[in-house]
Amino acid sequence: MSKIKTIAVENSSLDNVDFNNIPFGRVFSDHMFSAVYRNGEWQDLKICPTENINVHPAMMALHYGQSIFEGMKATVDQSGIPLLFRPEKHIERLNASARRMCMPEIPTDIFLEAIHRLVDFDKAWIPPQEGSALYIRPFVFATDEYIGVTASQNYRFLILTLPVGPYYSKPVSLMVERKYVRAVKGGVGEAKTCGNYAASLLPAKLAKEKGFDQVMWMDAHEFKYIQEVGTMNLFFVFKDRIVTPSTDGAILKGITRMSIIDYLKGEGHKVEEYPLTIDEVKEAYKKGELIEAFGSGTAAVIANISRIKDTDIDMQFDASHWKLSTEVKSFFNGVRIGKVPDKYGWIVPVNSQGN
Ligand SMILES: *Cc1c(COP(=O)(O)O)cnc(C)c1O
Repeated sequence: MSKIKTIAVENSSLDNVDFNNIPFGRVFSDHMFSAVYRNGEWQDLKICPTENINVHPAMMALHYGQSIFEGMKATVDQSGIPLLFRPEKHIERLNASARRMCMPEIPTDIFLEAIHRLVDFDKAWIPPQEGSALYIRPFVFATDEYIGVTASQNYRFLILTLPVGPYYSKPVSLMVERKYVRAVKGGVGEAKTCGNYAASLLPAKLAKEKGFDQVMWMDAHEFKYIQEVGTMNLFFVFKDRIVTPSTDGAILKGITRMSIIDYLKGEGHKVEEYPLTIDEVKEAYKKGELIEAFGSGTAAVIANISRIKDTDIDMQFDASHWKLSTEVKSFFNGVRIGKVPDKYGWIVPVNSQGN
C-alpha cells in the first residue's frame, strides 16, 4: 500500500495554458509532491495542490545553502502514455548531491513512486509536441530554524512539474571565462546544489553585457582545461573523433552527456573522455578540423555552439549544416515520444501505481 496521500485541486488551471507558447520555467502544473524529514525519517508523503509553503525566516537553507535539486523530463508517446527518461540515474545523482551536502538521502522507492504518481496525476499537463515536455524539478532543502553553521536535522523534499516547449532553439555564443571559476576539485561542482548557480550569475551577466549567451568555464587551477557551460556539458566533434571533457570532480555528471556517449559509441563513433584543453580546440579550429561543438543537458538536449571567443581568437561556426548534433537531437527527441525504438533502454513508461 502506498503511503502517499493525494489531495486534488478544486479547479485545474490547465485551461489557461497554451502549449504552443509556454514561457520556460514560469508555468506550474496543478500538483506537487511533498515530504518532510523529521526524527530521521521521510514522512507526510503527499501529492497536493501546487501552493505556497510556510517557512520560518531562520530556515537554514536560506542562510547556509543546504539545498539540492534535479531536473528531468516526462514526455508522452504516440498513444498518450507518459514516459520518463532514466529516472533511476536522477535519484542516484540526487543522493550523491545529498551526501556531499551532508543531507539525508531519499530512498529510491519513495523517489520513483513520487515521480510516477505525480506525473500520472498531472499527465494532461505533458505537452505532446516533439521537443516539448513536462519538466520535473525534485529538490531538497534544510528546514531547521537555527542560526549556526551545522547540518540541519529537518528537511523538506518537494517535486514541482512544469510544461515546457523546446529550449534554446538558437545556437549559443560562448566567452571563455578568464577571471571567475565555477568549481574546483574538492569543491561542490559535482553536486547539483544551489550555490553553484548563484556563483555563476555575475560572470554570466558580465558575459551577456559583452554580447555572449554564456561563459565557458575553465578549470580553477590553470584556466587551461575546458569544464562546461551553464547547465550543459560540452562535446567537440573533431575530424576523426568526438571529445568531451572527462568528469574530474569539478564537472557536473550530466545524464544527457552519459547517454550521448553511449549513443555515439553505439553508432560506431570514436568517443574520447580526457582533460581537454582549450588550446587543442583552438588548434583544431585553425586547421579546419573542428567540425561541430555543442552543449548537452536535460533542458536543451543539445544546444549547438555558434561562437567561442577567447582573448586571442574568435571562433565562429555555422551550425546550420551540422549532421551529428542534428542526428543526436532527433534520436533523443524521437526516443522520448516513442517514435524511435529505445534501443538503449532509457525510457520508463509511467505506472499509475507508482512502481
Ligand atoms: C544539470 C546540469 C548539467 C546537465 O545534466 P543533465 O543530467 O544532462 O541534465 C550540466 N551541468 C550542470 C552545471 C548542471 O547543473
